[in-house]
Amino acid sequence: MKKDIAVKLDNVSRSFGTTAAVRDISIDIRKGEVVSLVGHSGCGKSTLLRIISGVETIDSGQVFLDGREVDGRHFVEPETRGVGFVFQDYALFPHLSVRDNIFFGLKRHSQAQANANAEDVIRRIGIEHLMERFPHTLSGGEQQRVALARALAPRPGIVLMDEPFSNLDQGLRGQVRAETLSLLKSLDTTVIMVTHDPQEALSTGDRVVLMRSGEIVQAGSGYDLYDRPTSAYAADFFCLSNKVPGICKGGRIETAIGSFQLNHRTADDGKAIVHIRPQAISISLDRGDIPARVKQRVFHGETEHILLAVEGLETPLRAIALDRLPEGSDAVTISIAAERVLAF
Ligand code: ADP
Repeated sequence: MKKDIAVKLDNVSRSFGTTAAVRDISIDIRKGEVVSLVGHSGCGKSTLLRIISGVETIDSGQVFLDGREVDGRHFVEPETRGVGFVFQDYALFPHLSVRDNIFFGLKRHSQAQANANAEDVIRRIGIEHLMERFPHTLSGGEQQRVALARALAPRPGIVLMDEPFSNLDQGLRGQVRAETLSLLKSLDTTVIMVTHDPQEALSTGDRVVLMRSGEIVQAGSGYDLYDRPTSAYAADFFCLSNKVPGICKGGRIETAIGSFQLNHRTADDGKAIVHIRPQAISISLDRGDIPARVKQRVFHGETEHILLAVEGLETPLRAIALDRLPEGSDAVTISIAAERVLAF
């Protein structure tokens, strides 16, 4: 096995009764890589994380951490896997102070080592002032940072995070996420983060792994998954598109609203469904290619969501416009950025 692989799963499966939570998953995760595991609820993300941590066992396959087999033919207890875990609800011990929560995972270390490790993470995370407090007196953001400090204090090479930011307010979430990731990157920690939020997955992971029904649908950079999805499922997961029927032939697709050259080939010749992202439609009074009528506009500040009736289409097109149309303009024209059209 390559030396720079921190986590290796080989054909890993796990069922609960008749539910196959994880099916035949194989993946290599490099040291220092941040992987976001994303998918709808019930697709097996948490089970996969629990398998890696060792609190869940597998039915078949093999799991390796830093080249050592931890499940399969041999089972290694969670405590000795060198893995840190940050839970969605933080799971802080309510009867312990912040200090004792952080020292809890350091029992195997000498006192001097425990002090040095704890001091280092406490300083890096900036929670010196919270040491004597109890979890119930902390805000959500503070609890999240304490949970992170507790997970990092034993200096795990691998940190697993299950929806670690989902209990934070929208405003705080982005900031805490950026701080957490920059800290984990500075420690060169391998991170596997579970999220159900497509935007969070795209903005966080060096690699994004999309799961469905216990299987990996597609894995790659955020750009790969967003710009070059290999299935309609992956395309729709990251951005709900307009669907227009068309006929695909030799890399072009003909539709009621025009013919498009396909940059990213995903459809065979014959009938196909064209996915047109709402952001790929530009609207202007008279500079576009296709006449359209504005049926509805919803103002969101930065953007405006516009519903457009176009001749030849049964369903109106949804567009997300950055440029503002003059108020009261009903008859408009649209152009479609062909390089952002996908067909399946
Ligand atoms: P996710 O984290 O993507 O929401 P999970 O890994 O929690 O999904 O669950 C995957 C599937 O396995 C679901 O259908 C879930 O109900 C089932 N499952 C998970 N853990 C158990 C369990 N301990 N007992 C029975 N079914 C389980």
